[in-house]
Amino acid sequence: MGYFDEQLTKEKVFRDPIHHYIVVDNQIILDLINTPEFQRLRRIKQLGTSSLIFHGAEHSRFGHSLGVYEITRRMCNHFQRNYPSKFPGDGRWDDTERPVALCAALLHDLGHGPFSHTFEHIFHTDHEALTRQLITSPETNINRVLKRVAPDFPSKVASVIDHTYGNPQVVQMISSQIDADRMDYLQRDAYYTGTNYGKFDLDRVLKVMQPVKGGIAFEIAGMHAVEDYILSRLQMYLQVYFHPVSRSLEVILAHQLRRAKWLYQHPSDYQATMAPALLTPFFNGRFTLKDYLDLDDGVLLTSFINWRHSSDDILADLADRFLNRRPFKSVLYNEETAKRLPKLRELITTAGFNADYYTATNSSYKLPYDVYTPQATAPQSQIELVQPNGDQVELSQVSTLVASVAGKEAGDMRFFFPKEMLAQHENIEIFEPIYDEFQSYLKNDHLI
Ligand code: ZN
Repeated sequence: MGYFDEQLTKEKVFRDPIHHYIVVDNQIILDLINTPEFQRLRRIKQLGTSSLIFHGAEHSRFGHSLGVYEITRRMCNHFQRNYPSKFPGDGRWDDTERPVALCAALLHDLGHGPFSHTFEHIFHTDHEALTRQLITSPETNINRVLKRVAPDFPSKVASVIDHTYGNPQVVQMISSQIDADRMDYLQRDAYYTGTNYGKFDLDRVLKVMQPVKGGIAFEIAGMHAVEDYILSRLQMYLQVYFHPVSRSLEVILAHQLRRAKWLYQHPSDYQATMAPALLTPFFNGRFTLKDYLDLDDGVLLTSFINWRHSSDDILADLADRFLNRRPFKSVLYNEETAKRLPKLRELITTAGFNADYYTATNSSYKLPYDVYTPQATAPQSQIELVQPNGDQVELSQVSTLVASVAGKEAGDMRFFFPKEMLAQHENIEIFEPIYDEFQSYLKNDHLI
């Protein structure tokens, strides 16, 4: 494997609150970490708007990426120590796969941008496609470092992230229902949000992991550690990732970006947008890889500060709501009560708000554990346990705990609206009946 054999004479360690030490013993990994493309991940928060709810959650995609690398490195060590391949195709671990596994782990989130999911939605960027481009484009430093291993090495790394790489053990290390990516972000997000939900016994899960033909499985003796991981993941979704206030601030963020884009596309209002130079390629819908690499949380936050002084009232107000954390209120709704939403929007409009920018619906659902169903178009790899006689059994067949959540979606649907609708405005007597009517609708339908 050419350059990958060149171990550092002295290993380098990164101190980390989750893994204690993250060990780098190879020049290629160290050089990848030191590229500008990877260093940029320091300037992108892992959890976006969640830090406005859990103030500790300021951690970056840089730390998470190093964490996924470290977990993958430990998986490789464990496999090589306990399950080394004796002949090709024996279903055990072939350690020549280590370089591609480690590089894919380190680089799997390289294409993420600031406030990724909201930004992608408004500007039609695609972080997975961008990750692939950053790895395979000859323009990037990342690509130049990877090519030192072998000319086709960048495309191999990209294919692991795309799930098309030939060895399913390597693909499942980075992406499956229980992989290094999820194991790191659950622990890391739990630590930085200051919650208890994401904790599970990572050491135990790694210890019972084993390579098998067709992927990765777990010794049945470790079933309870795997159950704990599944439940932790469910709890983190319900308590942290789907937090209603965090979703509310994402709604405000999305409306704000959409308003700025709309103003930019209507030239008479151009001055009102104060479009920052670094965002104009995205307003135009034509951006290069270099434009994308210039984006980070700082660029967006600086834009929001400018927009707070915009002559466009909607943009200025939305920017202020985001920066000063004035979320919209929300109520739960279901298919039945959804019939009321047009009426609620109408009342919000009458009260003086543009419903396009001051209301939203959001549904957030997650499958805690997806059991393979032959009908599914893209079945998830299910979690397999290895019994003492060597036979494999699917997790929900033996775990009643997992069986009780398997295949069932957890989450809710919410309608977002300005908090002002819940209060009587002393200064706007004329609108008083509207607030009353709005609130009585919410009460009659038991929305609040
Ligand atoms: Zn990740």
